[in-house]
Amino acid sequence: MPALYTSESKVRVMTTEIKDIENVVIVGSGPAGYTAALYTSRADLDPLMIEGFAWGGLLQQTTDVENYPGYPDGVLGPEMMQDFRNQAERFGARFITDDATKLDLATEPGELHVVHVGDQEIRARAVILAMGAEPKKLGVPGEDELAARGVSYCATCDAAFFRGAKTIVVGGGDTAMEDATFLSKFAGKVTIVHRRDDFRASAIMLQRAIDADNIELLTPYVVDRFEPGENGSLSKAILRNVEDDSHRELPITGAFVAIGHRPNSQLVEDQVDVDPNGYVEVIGRSTKTKLPGVFAAGDLTDHIYRQAVTAAGTGCMAALDAEAYLRDTPVDAEAHWAAPPERIEAAAESAAS
Ligand code: NDP
Repeated sequence: MPALYTSESKVRVMTTEIKDIENVVIVGSGPAGYTAALYTSRADLDPLMIEGFAWGGLLQQTTDVENYPGYPDGVLGPEMMQDFRNQAERFGARFITDDATKLDLATEPGELHVVHVGDQEIRARAVILAMGAEPKKLGVPGEDELAARGVSYCATCDAAFFRGAKTIVVGGGDTAMEDATFLSKFAGKVTIVHRRDDFRASAIMLQRAIDADNIELLTPYVVDRFEPGENGSLSKAILRNVEDDSHRELPITGAFVAIGHRPNSQLVEDQVDVDPNGYVEVIGRSTKTKLPGVFAAGDLTDHIYRQAVTAAGTGCMAALDAEAYLRDTPVDAEAHWAAPPERIEAAAESAAS
């Protein structure tokens, strides 16, 4: 008998049927996860997606997306994620709108992985990890309230909305330099606010920022708070000098926070290989992790590009890699000797289909 899982949100209650052994479970939503769901559902693998309570990932927190191909007039981030989800659902993808709480990943080919969602244990032949990454926040007053109203974490996505504007970029690493240089093509002025006089950024990227006419460096300052104007959007940043504690007010309409990202790899960091910053490592140009039947895609593996379109691309790759794995790897029934006979039968049936 298949189990049922009921997810509740403020607006809907959904019941999802869970098979005794799933072919493929996708953990995390966003462009990578939904694309993996689309491809695996079209390959008749009947994927189950643990899409998270806050499904849709970072794009749920964005407004206009103008750089995703196929939307010539742009699209709202949440609308785009709904489109992605609908498209996967159309081909039979199933969703659990809740967070995965634990993953027990198998180490031998054909062994089953176990994905936990609270008390529910879901056994799967293949798992696609697509939990994404989150930009680090400053944690200062006004930051959350003014997100998408002047405070942004993605210059590539939002710089074009700040033509001629006075802006700041916070941070002293390569991302801050790259963001500032990109933003300087649109903004009237870009002030890089950094907490030390020394920069972590590579010399060449720092120099590129210094060479731009409309970029200025301001150190050693941190943002104390952001304040809105009468229209409710960002109008100033109050900065604090970390050496003499003096304050300074900068009138700005755009602030780009570029102080690093944190991949959401906590559930798997002890089981798959991760780099020193916690990004899941994949083998070569594939989406394979070091564990058989475990694939990773999207921002969880990518500290460089971090775009919706690149995440979707790797989501597609993960689906194709998982499909090949399932085709070539029968379920190892022996490894599940303790399982009741009907489970082994189901595994064999599932491997044969
Ligand atoms: P980094 O960790 O390299 O830099 C983060 C910066 O933010 C540091 O300058 C840090 O200051 C500052 N910072 C951190 N926390 C705070 C805070 N709470 N308040 C104020 N400032 C803070 O992250 P990046 O995203 O810049 O880079 C990550 C990796 O990606 C790096 O390896 C980088 O080289 C790479 N990268 C490469 C690119 C390329 O080659 N094209 C482009 C972008 C990134 P402090 O220095 O004082 O610690």
